[in-house]
Amino acid sequence: MYIKRKLNKSLQTFKGLHFGYTSKHKSSHRYTTTIGIGGNIGDVKRRFEHLFVYLKRDKRVELIKTSLILKNPSFGYIDQDDFFNSIIILKTSMQASLFLDYLLRVEKKFGRTRSFKNAPRTLDLDIIFFNNRVINTKKLQVPHKHWFKRDSVIIPLMDIR
Ligand code: ADP
Ligand code: MG
Repeated sequence: MYIKRKLNKSLQTFKGLHFGYTSKHKSSHRYTTTIGIGGNIGDVKRRFEHLFVYLKRDKRVELIKTSLILKNPSFGYIDQDDFFNSIIILKTSMQASLFLDYLLRVEKKFGRTRSFKNAPRTLDLDIIFFNNRVINTKKLQVPHKHWFKRDSVIIPLMDIR
């Protein structure tokens, strides 16, 4: 179901039908946003597939591209399962702050609860870029603060052309 590749001792990539996807349609939505998705509880790849189908059905967003899925070790609180991460590029007409609220609702739908910083999670959705906007409010920082330092973002991003 997936084409697997080992990059090194700790990194592995997965390519499948919905991850490594490019849309053939044109979208009339206003903004282009790059979101980082991640998780490390249960069957995360399966959850990503469900998320893809969920977003594909939602008229408020239009999927443009997805990257491969990267399996990589956790950081911060390290005594937990490896993470799976991917990148989704989509278009929306929602403003950034409303789009963040939307993503937080989707996280909840997919079983996200918040316990402590860097805790294990079913689904984490982060806005990496939003058009070319720079946003620095209490609730939202865009581009995402750590995007350029993390394998979990950079490796999937490199895969998207
Ligand atoms: P993290 O993703 O850093 O592990 P959380 O997913 O628990 O942490 O997010 C906590 C808060 O981070 C969110 O409620 C949101 O207000 C804030 N936040 C700030 N910038 C962003 C961003 N670019 N994308 C997503 N959330 C963000
Ligand atoms: Mg987050």
